[in-house]
Amino acid sequence: MPPGLRPGCIGRYSRLSLTKGLLPVRYVSTRGAAPALAFDEVLLAGLARDGGLYVPDSWPVFTADDWRAMRGLAYPELVARVIRPFVGGTIDQATLERLTAQAYRGFDHPAIAPLKQMDAGLWLMELFHGPTLAFKDFALQLLGLLFDHVLTQRGQRCTIVGATSGDTGSAAIEACRDRPSLDVFMLHPFGRVSEVQRRQMTTVLSANVHNIAVDGSFDDCQDLLKGLFNDLAFRDRVGLSAVNSINWARIVAQVAYYAHAALSLGAPERRLAVAVPSGNFGNVYSAYAARAIGLPIERLIIGSNRNDILTRFFDTGAMAIGTVHPTLSPSMDIQVSSNLERLLFDLYDRDGAATAKAMQSFRADGRLDVGAARLKRAQALFGATRYDDDETKAIIAREFKASGEVLDPHSAIGVAAGRAAQCPRDLPVVALATAHPAKFPDAVEQAIGRRPALPDRLKDLYAREERCMRLPNDLGALREFILARGGARDGKRSAA
Ligand SMILES: *Cc1c(COP(=O)(O)O)cnc(C)c1O
Repeated sequence: MPPGLRPGCIGRYSRLSLTKGLLPVRYVSTRGAAPALAFDEVLLAGLARDGGLYVPDSWPVFTADDWRAMRGLAYPELVARVIRPFVGGTIDQATLERLTAQAYRGFDHPAIAPLKQMDAGLWLMELFHGPTLAFKDFALQLLGLLFDHVLTQRGQRCTIVGATSGDTGSAAIEACRDRPSLDVFMLHPFGRVSEVQRRQMTTVLSANVHNIAVDGSFDDCQDLLKGLFNDLAFRDRVGLSAVNSINWARIVAQVAYYAHAALSLGAPERRLAVAVPSGNFGNVYSAYAARAIGLPIERLIIGSNRNDILTRFFDTGAMAIGTVHPTLSPSMDIQVSSNLERLLFDLYDRDGAATAKAMQSFRADGRLDVGAARLKRAQALFGATRYDDDETKAIIAREFKASGEVLDPHSAIGVAAGRAAQCPRDLPVVALATAHPAKFPDAVEQAIGRRPALPDRLKDLYAREERCMRLPNDLGALREFILARGGARDGKRSAA
């Protein structure tokens, strides 16, 4: 085996052993034409200047002894340990520990990410005990604090803008509210998000949070966002930044719950598989990263809804963009899985120019084929199954009958994919419950005939005051609104 090639891992990349001390990880773009950056710069930049996504130039690898030493740590401490080499000295360890402690304080389960056994070989990891009841809180709660810390140290402010069709918006708002160095402007399509989702955003009345209902579709919101980012003068003037799922810091924060699952089930001695409902390929890519840093995660199982671009990719090696169909699992209603580019980079042996070429042809023709050899390497690790809405409801009903467990539509798809993979007895599967069932009460009611109750923290959601600005689908109006509401009030710019 050539040096640097880890058995069963995709691609050739160098590895750093942590026992030799902490070498700072640098980040390179998947398209190979942007400067390598340190963690704090990657955090603020989001997307690389060449249009690529940042990945570590080498993976820090924890030894079996390192992992054993992490067993039984409280969740926030585990996060600080796991992300330490990725932060590479740009934030000192005491600060990191303080920030992780703060990030998970608002979760309302003492285990933070409790694991429940569903049957002999299947476990459910509940990732919905955060403030907005979806797994995105795990990364975004920490991201808001990291942004605030880095910006404050630099004496900078920035304006976060986002477009949401559901879960991301509320998670980002909860993460950025009341942070002195941030203003957040969140766009959603007027009348097209569920009432729970809207209220989770619009009832946050913090002065630095601005909800905008756009007269248009989600695609219109995304086009407005692109328009803002393409206006370079405006971008610099307000210090525009994004916290979407391509941000490396989100990926790395999610690695920690895979470590938590693996250690709880007996890693490094015992192997495991994970089953993940996937849209943008962000969550499951974090499992891939967890494997790359030394955890024995042997299978990465993906569940998709009717928007099955990932399932088709892992079946055939080809991706073709189709139209987005609305489903019962709206947070996976995606036709382009942005984070897949990070895996492609490894499949193309970390050749930025080759990855860039593949992505350009994908953008131009709406098609990409990685070929049989790369497909085979991907299939050695990944497998995927798709489920339509009727199947999803049937899964929710079946699981409820079997164990009394009420799954939301996204989680149900992950659980079903995990079961369909038929892993051997010595390979326990951890399926990820990515949202609380009360976030999708209509779908759950259709499946089992009863509406799940909102957790205590949201009991009065329908009684809370809402604040939201309604704007036309017009870039000029949006720009004016952001300026008038004080995006980057003191004129300082972020480095983004
Ligand atoms: C965002 C989301 C997903 C998809 O996660 P990706 O990282 O985009 O693959 C799945 N389930 C829920 C509930 C989500 O909010």
